[in-house]
Amino acid sequence: MASRGRDALPVLEEWYDTAVSGQRLYDRPRMCGVAGCAEPLIKAYHLKYRLCPVHIKCPAVLRRGVPQRWCSNCQKFHALESFIGSRRYAPTSH
Ligand SMILES: [Zn+2]
Ligand SMILES: [Zn+2]
Repeated sequence: MASRGRDALPVLEEWYDTAVSGQRLYDRPRMCGVAGCAEPLIKAYHLKYRLCPVHIKCPAVLRRGVPQRWCSNCQKFHALESFIGSRRYAPTSH
């Protein structure tokens, strides 16, 4: 936990996008989309978006190699630079 660089960001697994788009759900449908995360998804909201309570609030995760943040307004990831400061709403992406 010493590094605060890009490498330290949680990484979304490759199956994540397929799972969220409602297509075939691979074999880990009840897991958080972040690699190595064992946090159980209990609430329907977290299950629907395949993100645990920790990572849905995470300031940034790496998705396809790009740092992104979960937007609480439209329930999607946007590029980190779309957000202002630590807000969870990306005004330029809507
Ligand atoms: Zn997680
Ligand atoms: Zn948004």
